[in-house]
Amino acid sequence: MAGTGIFTEILDGDVYKYYSDGEWKNSSSGKSVAIVNPSTRKTQYKVQACTQEEVNKVMEMAKSAQKSWAKTPLWKRAELLHKAAAILKDNKAPIAESLVKEIAKPAKDSVTEVVRSGDLISYCAEEGVRILGEGKFLLSDSFPGNERTKYCLTSKIPLGVVLAIPPFNYPVNLAVSKIAPALIAGNSLVLKPPTQGAVSCLHMVHCFHLAGFPKGLISCITGKGSEIGDFLTMHPAVNCISFTGGDTGISISKKAGMIPLQMELGGKDACIVLEDADLDLVASNIIKGGFSYSGQRCTAVKVVLVMESVADELVEKVKAKVAKLTVGPPEENCDITAVVSESSANFIEGLVMDAKEKGATFCQEYKREGNLIWPLLLDNVRPDMRIAWEEPFGPVLPVLRINSVEEGINHCNASNFGLQGCVFTKDINKAMMISDAMETGTVQINSAPARGPDHFPFQGLKDSGIGSQGVTNSINLMTKVKTTVINLPTPSYSMG
Ligand code: NAP
Repeated sequence: MAGTGIFTEILDGDVYKYYSDGEWKNSSSGKSVAIVNPSTRKTQYKVQACTQEEVNKVMEMAKSAQKSWAKTPLWKRAELLHKAAAILKDNKAPIAESLVKEIAKPAKDSVTEVVRSGDLISYCAEEGVRILGEGKFLLSDSFPGNERTKYCLTSKIPLGVVLAIPPFNYPVNLAVSKIAPALIAGNSLVLKPPTQGAVSCLHMVHCFHLAGFPKGLISCITGKGSEIGDFLTMHPAVNCISFTGGDTGISISKKAGMIPLQMELGGKDACIVLEDADLDLVASNIIKGGFSYSGQRCTAVKVVLVMESVADELVEKVKAKVAKLTVGPPEENCDITAVVSESSANFIEGLVMDAKEKGATFCQEYKREGNLIWPLLLDNVRPDMRIAWEEPFGPVLPVLRINSVEEGINHCNASNFGLQGCVFTKDINKAMMISDAMETGTVQINSAPARGPDHFPFQGLKDSGIGSQGVTNSINLMTKVKTTVINLPTPSYSMG
């Protein structure tokens, strides 16, 4: 059970502690932040509302711990990461339980998230040992006008303190996807977990604590992003921000100093369906892509753009599958569970009502109880409807009928987002040309958009992000190239 067994020390009464200087502490604010269970709409957990002084302290510790960590051999850093991964996987049950309670993620998917996170940490340790163990050696005479008088050696060095801010929908996985690359590369790490998802993150951080990382190297500050976020992101000690979330990331980018940013933001992933597509395959992918975790995924299919000639058939197939989705508590592994908050549910309802007023075809009756919204497919959506452009982050999927491939590509590219997209066709040549034309970070051919496997590059264009994720890219982003040049008094060529 969450907060028991090896996790007892992270809880004081009914409030979870924050993590600083290798210890679990109560905030001097004396205040806590409530985490409301999306299904019951009652307070499930409480976490500390940390103060600015506590942030200052954590940053000071992070700066000093990083100096010795950067001198720790790579193999030792990797060894500790492997240890943390094993502890995390061994303790998947209580962590998954808190995911169920604070973000209403179905129980099975919650376990998968924790296991996937352990695998990510281990992969990152291995990848780090390889890519950080290598550098480059350059010779000056390859550039015009130079003789071979200079030998240039390059290596990758850490940035310093990395601030990690993950979102609510994958709080553990998207936290470790920042923590593991930062640590293997020799950085220290300050985590600000999402409020919904904070308790799962605190459990995960305890696994790193138990693995034996040095004091102060990892910290976890809790509190509402709206209250403590600016102080954290504008803190002078921070050398890199890795953020995943919504539009908040755009304002952070404008305020942050001259530091590398890794921003993974929202998406409006389009699914373009051509006449020759395998419609059964498309329908299954629309269900998986559009309705998994109730549509609360950055890479969810968020708009279907289908050729008019096959639209009726596709809509019928998807409708039949929607009817089979189970709706209810995450504890019972229902496909559709409550969305994360009342304000999210209200926002989704606003999009649905706008589509209703403007004449969209409702393939199911709209139904909502509290934060639980039944899955809804909206056909005949037109570009003047909000749902054609906005990200519902819920189990509501619009279908726009198109008369040409160009119309589909134009709709996709007119979005301010550019995360992923997908195209369904049996013609690989067409698929490649459409992929090239789509202004998105990734295009999936004949499958729904997806972030994994976690070592694949993952990035958004336009308002969907800055930089690229995926294990290797994250390690590279959290390092800087350092060069040393050996200058010879006379040119020297090896004769072989
Ligand atoms: P969000 O509201 O932007 O919150 C993300 C994180 O930012 C949370 O930890 C939040 O803390 C924190 N935060 C809030 N205000 C802040 C501030 N002023 N300064 C610093 N941090 C602040 O996003 P969300 O609702 O958790 O997640 C949903 C969004 O994330 C969707 O738009 C989705 O598409 C996107 N997403 C993108 C990806 C991707 O990889 N591209 C992956 C997953 C999700 P609090 O919880 O305490 O407010």
